[in-house]
Amino acid sequence: MSTAAAAVVAAIAGALIGSFLNVVAYRMPRRESLVRPGSRCPTCGSPIKPYDNVPVLGWLLLRGRCRACGAPVSARYPVVEAVTALLWAGVVLRFGADSDVWLPLVFVTLLVPVTLIDLDFHIIPNTLMIAGAVAALALVPAFESGDVVEHLIAGAAALAFFLIAAVAYPAGMGMGDVKLAGVMGLFLGRAVAPAIFTALIAGTLVGVVIIARFGAAEGRKKGIPFGPWLALGGVVGVFAGDALVDWYLDTFT
Ligand SMILES: [Zn+2]
Repeated sequence: MSTAAAAVVAAIAGALIGSFLNVVAYRMPRRESLVRPGSRCPTCGSPIKPYDNVPVLGWLLLRGRCRACGAPVSARYPVVEAVTALLWAGVVLRFGADSDVWLPLVFVTLLVPVTLIDLDFHIIPNTLMIAGAVAALALVPAFESGDVVEHLIAGAAALAFFLIAAVAYPAGMGMGDVKLAGVMGLFLGRAVAPAIFTALIAGTLVGVVIIARFGAAEGRKKGIPFGPWLALGGVVGVFAGDALVDWYLDTFT
């Protein structure tokens, strides 16, 4: 299969996985089963018919409404499906249609529910962090066996860096961010450095804008939790991390 064809397959698979990630993001923080019952309209509770549950298209064809009760269905669902499809296709285009894709593919997939749940509840579930750490510890030796030590050091260093930040500024950082940073290091290896840098810059810039607009007290209330910025940094780390590290080393050393 050509890389382009594999990217199309990855986009379709990514959209289906994105549909499941919507379920995970809704049910995991509510401690509901991820498999039963099937998807239901959150307003009227009617089961969603399989033909209406097609990622992105189902929502578009029903113009964002429940077929049974007509209540609006959030545009977030198709957006998450589309973003997951793009991430999967992008990983295949970036890493090629071979075994190099599994580590970045699992990583970007993990970042989607982390982002959604942190935005909604300001928590990052331990279940996701344990699953991520286990996956990274299995996938790195399997597919990047030469870089196991690098990934372990990156995980420990990122965890320690955020632990210090969380102890120094408990209002800005939570233990969820500390664990997420560690998991990101396990997946990314040295590319976790530009990932964290990106997260800090993006989060700080947006924080400054929000405080300038709404004032410090109100800005804190409106503040976006840090997990989504780490996830954004993680995506940058996947697609450009190694190039950024090489650029930095060439320029400054
Ligand atoms: Zn309904």
